[in-house]
Amino acid sequence: MDKLVSLCKRKGFIFQSSGIYGGINGCWDFGPLGVELKRNLRDHWWHTFVTSRDDMVGLDASILMHPRVWEASGHVEKFHDILVDCKACKKRFRQDHLESEICPDCGGELSEPRTFNSMLRTRMGVSEDTAVETYLRPETCQSIFVSFKDIASSTRVKIPFGIAQIGKSFRNEVNPRNFIFRSREFEQMEIEFFCHEDEAADWFDRWQQEIWGWYLAIGLHEDKLRWFEHPKESLAHYSKRTVDVEYEFPFGWGELQGLANRGVYDLTQHSQYSGKDLSFFDAERKERYLPTVIEPSAGVDRTVLALLCDAYDEDTVKDETRVVMRFHPKIAPVKAAVLPLVKKDGLAEIAETLEKRLRRKFITYYDHAGAIGRRYRRQDEIGTPFCICVDHQTKEDETVTIRHRDSMEQERLPMADVDAFILKQVSVRDIF
Ligand code: ATP
Repeated sequence: MDKLVSLCKRKGFIFQSSGIYGGINGCWDFGPLGVELKRNLRDHWWHTFVTSRDDMVGLDASILMHPRVWEASGHVEKFHDILVDCKACKKRFRQDHLESEICPDCGGELSEPRTFNSMLRTRMGVSEDTAVETYLRPETCQSIFVSFKDIASSTRVKIPFGIAQIGKSFRNEVNPRNFIFRSREFEQMEIEFFCHEDEAADWFDRWQQEIWGWYLAIGLHEDKLRWFEHPKESLAHYSKRTVDVEYEFPFGWGELQGLANRGVYDLTQHSQYSGKDLSFFDAERKERYLPTVIEPSAGVDRTVLALLCDAYDEDTVKDETRVVMRFHPKIAPVKAAVLPLVKKDGLAEIAETLEKRLRRKFITYYDHAGAIGRRYRRQDEIGTPFCICVDHQTKEDETVTIRHRDSMEQERLPMADVDAFILKQVSVRDIF
């Protein structure tokens, strides 16, 4: 992890938030490479689960919502963590995480457990007496339930169908840790899939398969992934069944995504609290009912961390250790680097023109500084899957070499074919 965290900082993937002020616990900034990695991940997810399906629609709801939402959802009453303090070293721990903590190093006595609500509070309104207290949403899914009626009446969705959303969530975590794994501001990719109760078990199984397939599609190693079935007695108040996808991080197995059968809990609660009927007329069954909800709920940041851990590799080339980030080409932040073999003889000009052309289609990088081997290493370290080298032969026959990051093998291609060759492998859409 230390190597990865330092690479992320050095290369501009992830920085501590407010670093020049000493940082702020549990908040992170995604730098120039991190933002592209994250964007590719989101695009891949959105394309897979929303735009390429005919049973899914999207939503981008407001982070701030009516405070009643959080009463209805059960968050005000139940979204609690139990914390304990070490009386000697003053460190604070979540009671349910004590076993996985190296805790407390000092062997000090622990305080009595105390509960506290994990939602971040804020106040809306300008004057103190009229300002309303509300919360930064702790999960994106509640806005899907609250917008359910608007979406159902403004689209032609038929049961079964899903509503998907990607967005920020906030939790006042007792102990943010493990880099971006547990932070106070993070992003979720959530789907609420509405179906008839009789079909819920079947849809649960189907979603399990879809989710698993997606993690493989973004390039994670299958042997680093596993399912965890929540025992009945530890299920959240809304859940009938929950399974998590876990990834084996350097610090141990950790949850990437939950898949829960939320039953009719949320729609029932919001119907009661809002006084609006949230039932849906199923034209096929000729029946009006509150649909059962299957919820795949994933974390963007945790998936980014899994991608970073999974991609990190070191190998030895000619007695030199190279660090290589083996990202899937669709996920890699920079898709191709264009490198003139040498700066002189007109090669730099050809390379620059080619790079400008490619840049309009995907993210590229131009570099002519230093020995070619060194420049390849620099790209390996940020996970660029293809390096295009313009050499003297290019001037004769308009071909270039393409070096593959993982195998380091090179092949020659006509310059005119480079765009399509790379686009085919890096686009999240099936464009060919
Ligand atoms: P945990 O048990 O690790 O606190 P959770 O079970 O409370 O997580 P969910 O409420 O199921 O998490 O949230 C869905 C997803 O959102 C998680 O699988 C995770 O990927 C992401 N997530 C939740 N909390 C955080 C956090 N503090 N930092 C980063 N991602 C988070």
